[in-house]
Amino acid sequence: MNNKPAFIPFALPHIGDEEIAAVTEALRSGWVTTGPKTKAFEQAFAEFLGPGLESIAVNSATAGLHLALEAMGIGPGDEVIAPTLTFTATTEVVRYLGADAVLVDVDPRTLNIDPAKIRAAITARTKAIMPVHYGGLACEMDEIFAIAREHGLKVIEDAAHALPTTYKGTKVGCLDSDATVFSFYANKTMTTGEGGMVVTRNADAAKRMKVMRLHGMNRDAFDRFVSKTPAWYYEVVAPGFKYNLTDIASALGLVQLTRLPQFLVRRQHLASRYAQELSDLPLILPADAPDGDVHSWHLYVIRLDDQALQRGHDRDAVIQALSDHGIGTSVHYVPLHRHPYWRDRYQLDPAMFPVADKAYQTMLSIPLYTAMSDDDQTRVIDTLRRILS
Ligand SMILES: *Cc1c(COP(=O)(O)O)cnc(C)c1O
Repeated sequence: MNNKPAFIPFALPHIGDEEIAAVTEALRSGWVTTGPKTKAFEQAFAEFLGPGLESIAVNSATAGLHLALEAMGIGPGDEVIAPTLTFTATTEVVRYLGADAVLVDVDPRTLNIDPAKIRAAITARTKAIMPVHYGGLACEMDEIFAIAREHGLKVIEDAAHALPTTYKGTKVGCLDSDATVFSFYANKTMTTGEGGMVVTRNADAAKRMKVMRLHGMNRDAFDRFVSKTPAWYYEVVAPGFKYNLTDIASALGLVQLTRLPQFLVRRQHLASRYAQELSDLPLILPADAPDGDVHSWHLYVIRLDDQALQRGHDRDAVIQALSDHGIGTSVHYVPLHRHPYWRDRYQLDPAMFPVADKAYQTMLSIPLYTAMSDDDQTRVIDTLRRILS
C-alpha cells in the first residue's frame, strides 16, 4: 500500500472538454495548419487586449521575440538591454540576429528590470530594451519609455508571464512599446501546447513579421487557398522562418482565451491566500501589483529572508524537503549570468548582478495553477510552515 499523498506539481495546464472538442473539430475540419482558426484566434486575442492592435500568431514566444527584433531592424553591432533574471529565450533571439545582449540587474522588491541599471548600460550601440514582466507583475514602464524616448530606443516587451497584466490601468500589450510578445507554453497562464502571439500598433512591423513568419513569402497558404489569384503563386521576398501557428493550436487557444478571466480569478485567490498564510514565515513574498492594477500571478516566487538564512535554512534544502512531501517547485531563474554561454560570452560575474544573484540563491516558485484545490494549497502552506519553523 502506498499512503503517500498525491504529488502536487508546481504548474499544470487547465484543459477541459471544451478544449478537447474544439481541437477535435479542427482535426476533422480538413484544415490543420494555419488557417481560419488562427485568423479567428488572432482577432479574438487583439480584441481581448484592446483596440488598434495587430496580432501575429506564432508557434512560440521565442519565435515572436525573434520576429519582433528582426522587424525592428536589430542586427550585427547592435546592443539590446535585458534583465539577467529571465529565461534564455529573451536574449537568445538577440544573438540569432548577430546583435549583443547587455544584461542588467533587477529591482530587489519586484525582481523586474531596474530602470537605473538600464540607464547605466546605454552605449552608442544600444538599439532596444526588452523588459520582462517577471512572474506577471508589470515593469516600471513609464521610466522605461522615458529612457527609450530620450535615447531613441525600441521597446520590445517579453510578456510571456503577463497575460493578463495591467500597468497603471492599461493592459500589457496596449502600452507604448513597439511590440509585445506573449507565450502559450504549457505552464503559462493560458496554453496552446506550444505557441505565442506578437501584438503591435506598428503596421509596417506587423507586415514584416507576417512575411517573415512564413518563409518570407508574401502570401500564406490560407490566403492562397481563399484568394482569386492562382493558388499556386507566391513570391519569396526574404529568407524567412517557419514560425506559423497551427489551426489545431489556435482552436485550443480560442477556448483558453474565453476562460482567461476565470483563470485569473483563481490565480488571484490562490496568491492572496499564500500572501495571508505565509506572511509570518521568514520569507520575502512576491510584490503585489499596485492598487487597481492586475498581477497575472503566472508565478508565485518566494525568497528565504535573512532571518531564515541565519537560522541555517537554505533554498536547496527547502526544495528537497517539499519534494519529500510530494510538492513540486521550480526556480525562476538560474540567472543568465550564471549560464556558461552568457557568462563566457560576456565575461559575466555574479558580483555584477548582486540583486538577481542573491534572489536566485534564496528563491523558489511554489505551486500555483488554476486546477489547484484549496486543500492542496493548505498542504503546501502547512508543509512550508513545518519546514521553516
Ligand atoms: C516561457 C518564456 C519564454 C518563451 O516562451 P515560449 O513560448 O516557450 O517560446 C520567453 N520568455 C520568458 C520570460 C518565458 O517565461
